[in-house]
Amino acid sequence: MKPFDYVRPDTVEGVLAAGAAGGRYIAGGTNLIDLMKLQVETPGTLVDIAGLTMRDVATLRDGGLSVGALVPNADLAAHPSIRDSYPMLSRALLAGASAQLRNMASAGGNLLQRTRCYYFYETAAACNKRTPGSGCAAIGGFNRIHAVLGTSDKCIATHPSDMAVALRALDATVVTARPHQDGRRIPLGDFYRLPGDTPEIETVLEPGELIIAVDLPPPPPGRQLYRKVRDRASYAFALVSVAAAVAVKDGVVTSARLAFGGLAPMPWRSAEAEAALVGRPAGTAAFEAAADALLAGAHGHGHNDFKIVLARRTLIACLRDLTA
Ligand code: SF4
Repeated sequence: MKPFDYVRPDTVEGVLAAGAAGGRYIAGGTNLIDLMKLQVETPGTLVDIAGLTMRDVATLRDGGLSVGALVPNADLAAHPSIRDSYPMLSRALLAGASAQLRNMASAGGNLLQRTRCYYFYETAAACNKRTPGSGCAAIGGFNRIHAVLGTSDKCIATHPSDMAVALRALDATVVTARPHQDGRRIPLGDFYRLPGDTPEIETVLEPGELIIAVDLPPPPPGRQLYRKVRDRASYAFALVSVAAAVAVKDGVVTSARLAFGGLAPMPWRSAEAEAALVGRPAGTAAFEAAADALLAGAHGHGHNDFKIVLARRTLIACLRDLTA
């Protein structure tokens, strides 16, 4: 690990000033410390934000919830309001990492964790995300865990978060503070960037911008589910995951929210798949139409071709369970 400076301001203003000066924010450190040990990331200054008071889950006036950026993943999963009203989020959190990591990892940090592409962590390999312009060892290499939607010829990495997939289905909003200007409210659907020609830029956050909370609107109608398909029963990233909320009345789907992990460089919401369900009888024909719509643009890279079939089967199984 390369030497670095460490500061721990105890006010948002102090944190933002240190961030504006080029410091790298750290909360639980469950991803960043690994990256620093491998010298994938080499910040000159770490700005520890653990001294801030962003650890509450508060009820909003519209009936939604505001989740402080420093709420640990374990606490959020166990919060009674999350368990009762947003069970897909609780399930997604519990499907992520290990108990020890969930105790340390923060809500804001979870959103910003970086890809688990093997080549990103191997500094001898070509990787446009780590070293722009160096190439992509996964394209033409071993790419079993890589993306089939939203990729570019520069990067085919997936986003690793389970929590973010549920938040995408729940239409969450990221609340930020910025140095020298007002903060922003960024819908999660606008928060992540596809790789395009600049896979090293993963979100729309500006230099020094700090996540302070994640707001949830009131829960969607219908039943909720989060299902994660992975190589091991625990402590493994998703090959495919589905966050879904579906409402049915008189046998007809009246509302659907569908988001996916393990398939794309960002938590992937499919408006096309949702449209293929709503207004149709809740049955095999509609479920298959939704899978067709989701995967119409899917493109495998060899080792990960199986994900297209796996995503189809997983989505249809989830929809059967939700509407049974
Ligand atoms: Fe790097 Fe992305 Fe290629 Fe992985 S897929 S090697 S992260 S450029």
